[in-house]
Amino acid sequence: MRVLLAEDDKSLGQGISDGLQKLGFCVDWLQDGLSIEHAIMNDDGIDILILDLGLPRKDGLDVLKTIRAADKSVSVLILTARDAVEQRIAGLDLGADDYMLKPFDLHELAARLRAIVRRKSGFTQALLSYGDLQVNLSEHSVKVQGQQVNLSHIEFAILEHLLTHIGQVVSKQRIESLLYGWSEGVESNAIEVHIHHLRKKLGKELIKTLRGLGYMVPKINTDA
Ligand code: CA
Repeated sequence: MRVLLAEDDKSLGQGISDGLQKLGFCVDWLQDGLSIEHAIMNDDGIDILILDLGLPRKDGLDVLKTIRAADKSVSVLILTARDAVEQRIAGLDLGADDYMLKPFDLHELAARLRAIVRRKSGFTQALLSYGDLQVNLSEHSVKVQGQQVNLSHIEFAILEHLLTHIGQVVSKQRIESLLYGWSEGVESNAIEVHIHHLRKKLGKELIKTLRGLGYMVPKINTDA
């Protein structure tokens, strides 16, 4: 899952960024409102924005107003101080999906991020089943026919994205942008290599290639 973090407090930002990456999130971190707004306007690959409200150059609530007015559907979780009740209400009314009060527990933040993205995908629980494949989105674990399969962070991120967009074609560029925040970088043929590994580990039928368009996990036909 690709996360953009807006936080101008350097030690807090570093802590959240490092912590979420260790938990398997792909995190980009920016420290002022204008840069955040620019990133959201120009990159549709971001799943969720963690938005501090007191930001230099443009206030968090104004950023939220602008991106919702532009019809950007990125999920938003607001970070606020405990006493800023009115700002929280304003944020939710402006289209934020959730909020957390500072200081907070990193694992709770991670769980809320997963819950928001899950709700948006129409899944109500962290455990996804697809044929003989079972994926636990909170534990990042994958089983095939009950047997644990080990995936790299990147492989898991690709699988998670395809499974939460079942029946939709996901372009190679979209997958690249999903992986963009990872420091190891993405080489030009890297997506094919990761897809190849996923097929090897999970079965070659799972992920379809649509030549020139991208990849898809097809819907399971329940009428058959
Ligand atoms: Ca701040």
